[in-house]
Amino acid sequence: MSSKNDQFFIRVWGARGSIPSPGPKTVKYGGNTSCLEVRCGNEIIILDAGTGIRSLGDLLLKEMPIHATILLSHAHWDHIQGFPFFTPVFLDGNSFDIYGETKIDIEETLRLQMMYPTFPVTLDELQSTIHFHDIKLHGHIQVKDVKINYDSLNHPGGVTGYKIEYKGKSIVYATDTEHFRCVDQTLLKLAKDCDILFYDATYTDDEYSGKVGFPKTTWGHSTWEAGVEIAQAANVKKLILWHHEPSHEDSLIDEIEQNAQKIFKETYAAYEGMVISLL
Ligand SMILES: [Zn+2]
Ligand SMILES: [Zn+2]
Repeated sequence: MSSKNDQFFIRVWGARGSIPSPGPKTVKYGGNTSCLEVRCGNEIIILDAGTGIRSLGDLLLKEMPIHATILLSHAHWDHIQGFPFFTPVFLDGNSFDIYGETKIDIEETLRLQMMYPTFPVTLDELQSTIHFHDIKLHGHIQVKDVKINYDSLNHPGGVTGYKIEYKGKSIVYATDTEHFRCVDQTLLKLAKDCDILFYDATYTDDEYSGKVGFPKTTWGHSTWEAGVEIAQAANVKKLILWHHEPSHEDSLIDEIEQNAQKIFKETYAAYEGMVISLL
């Protein structure tokens, strides 16, 4: 196999929050829930297993046998629901390391998702080799030359934010986190000087505060305005708005992106198929 040591890129497979939201009004940004592919040299790292992971699985079939590291932010449906439809886990010869923090262990969480009467195939029937790793609060994972730091962010039931570093470049994945009234010091430290920050931009400030609709405080999500604030405070190079609210149509996300760019120029709303190279 030719060396891919000099590659470091991300590809978005699902950027929607909470529930898949397909339809004519979400074509541009997509309706699949959280899944982000990260390639660091020959390493395949997958952030979250929302419904977007199904299509990523189809791509990976062409590279079999594969080994991939799956980092789960948390176990809410929109971040694990694609796992039972991720074909590479069904096939012998592939192997996976799955990391995540849940209130019960991560293997048990995925096992419960794949059970009668809600699913016809059990976790034990998968033919690939899967190693489960329960992580707690904050720490460090080393995958060959890839350094991964993680820390706890603010979400009901808990959530993990990840920083992935390779060859001097870094991305931070901060989905499903609430900013409350100030810049989150934990995320500030994790995201400091990173190249790309993926940030929970589920709501606008007006939606969050209740100026539009119900107030969304304590629901565990953030806003694009808070994203811009943390991106500036942490000196990140590029801000990616992530976890779009299911009711946000393409036109509204276009508007949000434009408004954010007026304050922080290097802001982009994530869309399915978005690719960004870091090397
Ligand atoms: Zn979510
Ligand atoms: Zn969540």
